[in-house]
Amino acid sequence: MNFIRQEFRAVPVRHEVDVLVVGGGPAGLAAAVAAARNGASVLLVERYGFLGGTMTAVTLGSICGLFGVRGGEVQLIVRGIGEEIVDRLRTRGGAGAPKLWLKTASLPYLPEVMKLVADDMVRQESLTLRFHSLAVDVLREGGKVAGAVFESIDGRWAAKAAVTIDCSGDGQVAALAGAEWHCDLDELQFPTTMVRFGGCDTAKVEAMDRAALHGYLENAVAAGFSLPRTAGGIFAFNESIVHLNITRVERDGRSPDPLSSEEMTQAEMDGRRMGQTYLEAFRGHVPGFETAWLLDTGAQIGVRESRRIQGDVTVRSEDALGSARFEDAVACCAWPVEEHGKGRATRWVWLEDGAYYQIPFRSLLPRGVDGLVVAGRCISATHEAQASLRVAGTCFALGEAAGLAASMAARGTGDLRAVSMPELQNALSAAGAYLGFEEPEIYSHNMKPGVGATQ
Ligand SMILES: Cc1cc2nc3c(=O)[nH]c(=O)nc-3n(C[C@H](O)[C@H](O)[C@H](O)COP(=O)(O)OP(=O)(O)OC[C@H]3O[C@@H](n4cnc5c(N)ncnc54)[C@H](O)[C@@H]3O)c2cc1C
Repeated sequence: MNFIRQEFRAVPVRHEVDVLVVGGGPAGLAAAVAAARNGASVLLVERYGFLGGTMTAVTLGSICGLFGVRGGEVQLIVRGIGEEIVDRLRTRGGAGAPKLWLKTASLPYLPEVMKLVADDMVRQESLTLRFHSLAVDVLREGGKVAGAVFESIDGRWAAKAAVTIDCSGDGQVAALAGAEWHCDLDELQFPTTMVRFGGCDTAKVEAMDRAALHGYLENAVAAGFSLPRTAGGIFAFNESIVHLNITRVERDGRSPDPLSSEEMTQAEMDGRRMGQTYLEAFRGHVPGFETAWLLDTGAQIGVRESRRIQGDVTVRSEDALGSARFEDAVACCAWPVEEHGKGRATRWVWLEDGAYYQIPFRSLLPRGVDGLVVAGRCISATHEAQASLRVAGTCFALGEAAGLAASMAARGTGDLRAVSMPELQNALSAAGAYLGFEEPEIYSHNMKPGVGATQ
């Protein structure tokens, strides 16, 4: 490969803040709001023109990870800012009744309303938001991360920060900072292009269970359709519109490389083409979809897993499935291991009835790197544990913990490892977060049985 050498250029420092948050998905939104509420000056930078990350750019349709289920009763596992977002979605008419399905429960929501809720939250805090800006480098001072460099339409610029939070989903800032990370193409979960169909008979769709859907799609396969998945999630929130989590894009029998722009270019086009194939299969084989048409796909293909950073501690599947408890717990997860690997069905590994595990703060700290904390789907977890904790509800909780910790560190020397865990846990509890040290509360809203969601 040929290389050119670029000239050195001076980069303006446009912001100097206590806390810099890169990426405005569920983790980044919660992190920025939590840090601002704790008195930090905060800059939140997002590459798109809206917040919500996968929830809005990929468009999911249901929030998972908010709830645990014990004996058929739904318990609140994520509270604090996550619960506030749900309340705000509901107030704006953008969240339905939680749905009980398989052995869990999730909450249908409207991605467009999520964008508005995120805007509302940012407006109501004294934090600075910058859209259309991509983190391309990190700043270092005295061996620690001291902010980041961004590329926008108006040029390259820098933001200095006492603490930086990587909420990019891909662990992009941590990688730029030289942190160790894992991304094994042989085991990586497959990505999905989310599609919405209009013109559906939503009453019929709502009445269909997972087994029936699976049967109809297997019939479509028998009739010659090439469908990589015959089990998936379908949600009907608005009259006649159905949201489908059903495609699966692969390359040579493995996931496309989410860290290769070349492979992801092909994946985007393959995902859209597959959406069209599913439309034809649904129209011909699934009741309620006879007159369906393709309404839209997400702004990008949905990536479930890319970099998992190497933290001071790694959450393992034994922790997830064994209801692990940690002294430095900052969040909880009750979502099962939900692995989108090879084969036409998703692999589910369930936690015990009513079980949840705690997530330690040390899994948010990239080993050997100072001044940086990560939150969201790229924290330190094994492949299998990540297949559980990556869901949006858990990412809200992880983001809130990272934001609060960052604001506390910024008030001192900026050393995240010096943050007192009892103080952080007290502050999180005072802000309404659930850390799993006492029994979770029963969720009182109406529960609706449904077709349900999968990623
Ligand atoms: C197909 C699919 C279906 C899913 N279904 C569900 C579901 O039904 N329910 C559920 O709860 N979860 C679901 N998930 C999982 C969940 O949505 C994600 O794991 C979760 O959103 C991750 O949150 P995050 O904040 O870590 O990252 P993301 O949501 O990925 O957000 C990261 C943000 O950072 C921005 N960003 C990235 N790099 C940069 C950069 N260099 N500079 C600036 N900004 C940057 C991105 O634009 C994005 O906004 C699904 C995931 C996929 C892929």
